[in-house]
Amino acid sequence: MIIHLPKNISHARIQEHADALGALWVEQPDYFVLITNHTIKEMPLSLQHIAIAHWTFDTDMQLSSRQYMADTQCVKIGDTYIGGDGKHQLMIAGPCAVESREQIEQSCQMLKQQGIRVLRAGCYKPRTSPYTFRGLGEDGLKLLAEMREKYGLLIATEMRDATHADKVVEYADIVQVGAKAMYDHGLLTAAGQAGKPVILKRGFGSTLQELVNCADFIMSCGNNQVILCERGIRSFETNTRFTLDLCGVAWLKEHCNLPIILDPSHAMGYAYGIGDLARACTAMGVDGLLIETHPCPACAQSDAPQQLNHQQFCDMYASLQPIAQAIGKTLV
Ligand code: PEP
Ligand code: MN
Repeated sequence: MIIHLPKNISHARIQEHADALGALWVEQPDYFVLITNHTIKEMPLSLQHIAIAHWTFDTDMQLSSRQYMADTQCVKIGDTYIGGDGKHQLMIAGPCAVESREQIEQSCQMLKQQGIRVLRAGCYKPRTSPYTFRGLGEDGLKLLAEMREKYGLLIATEMRDATHADKVVEYADIVQVGAKAMYDHGLLTAAGQAGKPVILKRGFGSTLQELVNCADFIMSCGNNQVILCERGIRSFETNTRFTLDLCGVAWLKEHCNLPIILDPSHAMGYAYGIGDLARACTAMGVDGLLIETHPCPACAQSDAPQQLNHQQFCDMYASLQPIAQAIGKTLV
């Protein structure tokens, strides 16, 4: 149950109510939000005379549920936004990892020339094998900060584990929690306290319910700026890297109040399918796309097969324009 309480109650008193119910609370400008688990369906006696409003739920998808908030949360991205009135589709692009100054600079030049706002590149890569490139760490974050200065791009980058969560939150404009870390409660808490937009990627073996519960974890720490990312789930198919769950996206659009972006790059695993998938996702009216592109995909130190070269990226991006226009969206 979610219960709104008036602001004339002290924090100590709110905490007492929360403790009595095993509940969490967050503060909004005009009210406090008390969140119990969904099995509580009756307004507790102690709150009956002070509650402003309340909602009950069938599951613990509560703060992120359209039952609670019918409109999609508006997440501010620099001088623009996604969600809200749903008029924008954000392009988030860049190489899988920061590899060198020269490489990341070439990426920035291309993104800038295309009018793209958000550079995404990893510095702490969660790799499948311990014998592969794991990212430049803080040196990579410093390069990204330099690129932000020089090119005016916003920086999205991933925190892989709690050892560097603070650093990533400090450098990034948008913090990514990756698929393999979706269930890392240390990272979910850090994301909840980041005070910045968070991209929460769906674990490739996770249900939609598990994904939205993780979103509720972040939101119940006081951060509503959560963007869900579908990046493909594990299926029996092995010819493609993962299976992009567009049915799941439709379900999220219907039931969840958070903006949704899609990552065809990690789902497909091969550059040849990305254009078609990006166009299909755009036609679905999603809030954003995350596409990996590298100045020299064959030389990439991670995810080489799926990264578009710059010409492929520009062609793909141009092809999205008429589709976005047809469904009343602007690419931002
Ligand atoms: C990435 O975004 O580069 C990444 C590692 O993706 P995922 O967490 O979806 O596997
Ligand atoms: Mn990658």
